[in-house]
Amino acid sequence: MTIRQHLIDPEICIRCNTCETRCPTGAISHDRNYVVNVDICNFCMRCVRPCPTGAIDNWFDVETPFTLDEQHGWQFLPPRPAAADVAPPDAFDDEAADLLARAAGAMGGAARAPASAAHPQVNVYTRADPAHATVTGNARITESGTDSDVHHIILDFGSEYFPYLEGQSIGVLPPGTDAEGRPHAMRLYSVASPRDGEKPNTNNMSLTVKRVMRSDGQPGLASNWLCDMAVGDRLDVIGPFGSTYLMPDDPTTDLLMICTGTGVSPFRAFSLRRRRTAPEPGRMYLFFGARTPEELPYFGPLQRLLQSQLHRELVYSRQPAAEREYVQDRLLQRHDLVADALRNPKTYIYVCGLRGLEEGVETAMAEICARHDLDWPALRLQMCDEGRLHIETY
Ligand SMILES: Cc1cc2nc3c(=O)[nH]c(=O)nc-3n(C[C@H](O)[C@H](O)[C@H](O)COP(=O)(O)OP(=O)(O)OC[C@H]3O[C@@H](n4cnc5c(N)ncnc54)[C@H](O)[C@@H]3O)c2cc1C
Ligand code: SF4
Ligand code: SF4
Repeated sequence: MTIRQHLIDPEICIRCNTCETRCPTGAISHDRNYVVNVDICNFCMRCVRPCPTGAIDNWFDVETPFTLDEQHGWQFLPPRPAAADVAPPDAFDDEAADLLARAAGAMGGAARAPASAAHPQVNVYTRADPAHATVTGNARITESGTDSDVHHIILDFGSEYFPYLEGQSIGVLPPGTDAEGRPHAMRLYSVASPRDGEKPNTNNMSLTVKRVMRSDGQPGLASNWLCDMAVGDRLDVIGPFGSTYLMPDDPTTDLLMICTGTGVSPFRAFSLRRRRTAPEPGRMYLFFGARTPEELPYFGPLQRLLQSQLHRELVYSRQPAAEREYVQDRLLQRHDLVADALRNPKTYIYVCGLRGLEEGVETAMAEICARHDLDWPALRLQMCDEGRLHIETY
């Protein structure tokens, strides 16, 4: 069984003692090197942000943990395991970990990041010490007059650096308390921008937020609060969260992205990242479902892209005078394309959106595999193991 171990890189560490003074558990001590006691560290992350060098941000999955004596003897960190095995845990915050575990779907996606994914930071900002964001943009991105009110919201973090990768989520803290007088539960939102910012090289990000009505007819708390925000309004943000639902940095990989509604948010980030950094990237396929074109977030901007930049399959379930079509129907219709993607060991599959999506995609994949002489249960297992199948539904 592997254990995740928090380690300090002695080559980079400048021995400033900041981490030791911030650690609430006494897990960090120093002699020759600064070291972390694996039996005491509870992954609270309080030491990570204050470290001026990043030497503290190392997480290895190991069979046998390194002892304190071993850590004191190092001049360098030992050779790193595969990239997928050096990510921090998904979230150190119980609330976020619970939400992410539920979002990983009934069948479960990969428990590891793509091998070439960049190293994610998580829990940099916490409830006790949140980042303070300012809204610098808020625009509706579905047509007015339709039932689906989805907003593209831009948050600026000013001088508080908020690091994130495409595919990660942030936690938003609605102000006030619930009926029992406790602070409201955080709500997670996927980041819709690439890692270098909504505008390149800025400390900002965008979200794609749907105004939700609860089944009792009451407005959803956080989504309505966010969608009603004006430019200049401030909010508390924590995170980022998520260390597996990440994109491969290898530009030659293919991405098969399957979503409904606001599930497009991480895929906007993935495709913008590719377009900013890889002039001749691997292929990107987007299967995107909504009720109508008017209710499809980012419909206008998506129309402006060439199919060669982003192969789009836009699917509508409530078009007047047309048969209802769902994402899984279109996957089946394009079975040759999907089967080719499944056969390619460089294809990464991402599913994101409302809960019901996962089951439909699973059924479609199984049927496509059966038609093309592929073994879906075995392939699914292999893709999860290789960090190539990721599910996030909510
Ligand atoms: C990992 C993760 C990522 C998420 N990313 C996004 C995102 O990028 N954009 C986004 O808008 N939401 C996202 N969500 C959902 C978000 O966290 C909130 O649950 C949602 O905004 C409702 O919160 P609320 O306070 O307005 O509603 P509440 O007062 O908490 O009421 C919740 C009700 O709304 C339903 N609901 C939740 N989300 C939706 C939705 N998108 N469409 C329709 N019904 C919904 C729930 O089933 C429930 O009935 C994500 C959730 C998770 C777990
Ligand atoms: S993660 Fe928390 S417990 Fe572990 S060393 Fe850092 S501050 Fe201490
Ligand atoms: S805060 Fe960072 S640089 Fe300073 S002693 Fe700790 S690990 Fe080393």
